[in-house]
Amino acid sequence: MGNDCLFCKIAEGKIPANRVYEDEVCLAFPDINPQAPTHVLVIPKVHVSSLATAEDGHTELLGKMLAAAAEIAQRLGLERGYRVVVNTGNDGGQTVHHLHLHVLGGRPMSWPPG
Ligand code: 5GP
Ligand code: ZN
Repeated sequence: MGNDCLFCKIAEGKIPANRVYEDEVCLAFPDINPQAPTHVLVIPKVHVSSLATAEDGHTELLGKMLAAAAEIAQRLGLERGYRVVVNTGNDGGQTVHHLHLHVLGGRPMSWPPG
């Protein structure tokens, strides 16, 4: 998308990030404002604004992102468990409009969310 997307800039390397994971379709880096001892964001390299705007052609990408989340959790030692969250739209609390998975772990998670 245009130059104004923060996560596109990270994907393009224009803003540096600690890439804890990267493959041909996605990459992951720590959240700047972590909500758990481990809090990593998984983003697609292409711009997709949210889960709600993902299209049929993104099905394989979505599967790869979820598989990446599991791989990252394993690499980061989250053997006690973890949570994967996709905030979507206003009510979902989405603030960055480039699709991302939150991978949270390192402490017990409460349910339901607030
Ligand atoms: P959302 O609220 O859209 O689901 O999540 C966006 C996430 O991006 C937030 O958890 C926020 O802390 C994180 N974030 C916002 N700006 C930056 C940034 O510049 N770098 C990193 N690493 N994370 C960011
Ligand atoms: Zn983007």
